This record gives sequence, C-alpha cells and structure tokens, in this order.
Amino acid sequence: MTDPAPPSHLPDFIVKWVDVGIFVVNRDMEILLWNNFMAHHSGRSAAEMVGRNLFQCFEELPQKWLSKKINSVFVLKNFAFTSWEQRPYLFRFPHNRPITGGVDYMYQNCTFVPVKNEQGEVDSVCVTLFDATDVGMSQTMLKDALESLAESNNRDGLTGIYNRRYLEQRLSVEFDRAQRYGGVCSFILFDLDHFKKVNDTYGHLGGDEVLIEVARRVGTMLRTSDVLGRYGGEEFSVILPGTDLEGAHILAERVRECIAQAPIMFRDTPIPVTISIGINQLQPEEPSYEHLIQGADSALYVSKDTGRNRVTRYSPEMAGKP
Ligand code: GH3
Ligand code: MG
Ligand code: MG
Repeated sequence: MTDPAPPSHLPDFIVKWVDVGIFVVNRDMEILLWNNFMAHHSGRSAAEMVGRNLFQCFEELPQKWLSKKINSVFVLKNFAFTSWEQRPYLFRFPHNRPITGGVDYMYQNCTFVPVKNEQGEVDSVCVTLFDATDVGMSQTMLKDALESLAESNNRDGLTGIYNRRYLEQRLSVEFDRAQRYGGVCSFILFDLDHFKKVNDTYGHLGGDEVLIEVARRVGTMLRTSDVLGRYGGEEFSVILPGTDLEGAHILAERVRECIAQAPIMFRDTPIPVTISIGINQLQPEEPSYEHLIQGADSALYVSKDTGRNRVTRYSPEMAGKP
C-alpha cells in the first residue's frame, strides 16, 4: 500500500507557516521566496521582499562571506551548514527572551540547500534559519560559569590575587619552559614583619585590611606578565617571567620601599608595616621548581635574621636554611 499523496497545497502551507526561517535566492541574490518566519522577524513581508536583492535589503549581512557560501552551493551542488558557534547570527533579528545573558540578537543555525530546476541545474539556493538562541544562551552561560569557577579556584578569597595552588602551577609551567627553550625567570617571596603584633594590636580585621592593601599596592607595581599571589597566611610571592635576578632585585627594593614608606590606614588608624624579602632566579638544571621556592625562602630567612625590612638574594651557601 502506498502512502496517500499529500494535498498539493500542503508543502506551500508548511513552508509558509513552519517555525523556521526559509528563503530562496537566485544567482543574482534576488529573493524568490520569503516565508512568514522571515517576515515576522525582519518586519518585512514577502510582498515587499520577493524580487529584491538580499544584500540591498539587509546591509548588516556579512556580504562577502555569505555570497561566497551561497556561490559555493551553486558550484558544488551540495548542502552547506553554518552554526551559531562559528557565526552567532546572519540576520540581526531581535530575540524575545527576557533574560539575555549578553546575547543581543537571535542566534541562528543555517543550512544552504541547492534547488534544482527541471533540467537538473541548480538555479537557486534555499536557506533555512533555525533559532538557536536558547541553546546558544545556555551554552554561553555554562561556559562563563565554568570559566569563572576555574578562575575563582585560582584566587585567594581575601585579597583576590592568585592563590598558592595557581602559583605552583605557573611555576611548574615556567620551569618546563625554561628547561625546553631557555630564558630566565625570577621569584620574589616576601613575608610581613611582626604580623602577629599587628593582629594583636589592631585585631584580625585590621590584619586582614593590611593583607588586602599590601596585595593592592604590590599589584600596581607589576607588569601584566608578572604573577602575584598569596603564598600562605601573610606570605606573598611574585613570579617574574623574563626577568633576571638583577631585575628582580630592583623591583623587590621598590616593593619593600612602597610598603614601608606609608602606613596602611585601618579605620583612620595608621598601621606601620614592613616586609622582608627573599629573591631567587630559576635554574633550569635543577630537578624541579621547588628549589626556586626553597632558595627564595632561605634568602627571606636571612632578611628576617638580619633585621627585617630588607631584600636578600639567594646564594648557594644559604642552602638548607632555615
Ligand atoms: P615575622 O616578622 O618573623 O614574620 O613575625 P610574624 O609575627 O609575622 O610571624 P608569624 O609568621 O609567626 O605570624 C604570622 C601571623 O599571621 C600569624 C597568623 O595569625 C597571621 N595570619 C595568617 N593568615 C592571616 C589572615 O588571613 N588574616 C589575619 N588577620 N592574620 C593572618
Ligand atoms: Mg611574618
Ligand atoms: Mg610567616
């Protein structure tokens, strides 16, 4: 038994009313068909559009790209597809979603279908347009959420600078890079002097304010390639890719000076703060980046031991301290 033939007007009816954009253009990019979806979203009826040039009617269309795409369908006589991920939209159609999450226009998935005449020649191309706004929006929101989750995993909650986990991860990357391609990298480790006294005198909140302000001040002194992080309680570090020990020493002196020169204000009370610093340069011949940290830590210990509020460079005779 064969299926009963559909009523002859049914295909036209479907094309007209289906909730998908459908339009057809010839080789001159003249519009031959324009369905209700296209009319509704563009605000231009089929009566207005049929017979007119697509690009003259919609100047926002990416003409170069779209004519190339449509022409390739004429030449290759094959389907083509473009998804919202490659190009969020062709037509600047408003979408009617209340919460947009940064999505300005309707996202569109498009197919380009060759249409053959009775002689079997492709004489027009049918373009269909699916509204992909919901999928696009939820994927964009998911991606943003995952990115900000990954980012907050790398951040210290109090100061907003990087945390120890991220610092170690970056050090490991810099160490591998230096081993493979050469290049220098230095490391600054610093610790607040007598911080226990700060907490005892001004309370934990005062101490927290000091940590936040130290991170802020040091952050303003760095290059974008430098990586500032909170290494532990009141211990901070800076990774300086592309900077040798000499350069690190100059920066460390400036950082020390910047903290010591002006007290940190907490509820109108000035809190004098100083820091002790140890610096070290990455040695690619060492077995791991941990030696870089240990060296800076030994140098920091020397700074503490010799009076605090000072910078010390690591040298091999310090090995093993503290
Ligand atoms: P030194 O000059 O030898 O470094 O002396 P110090 O008092 O700084 O020495 P220590 O490292 O023993 O003290 C660190 C103090 O930092 C103890 C701890 O309570 C405090 N601390 C650690 N994390 C935080 C924090 O997040 N907020 C506050 N307010 N204090 C913290
Ligand atoms: Mg301390
Ligand atoms: Mg400490």
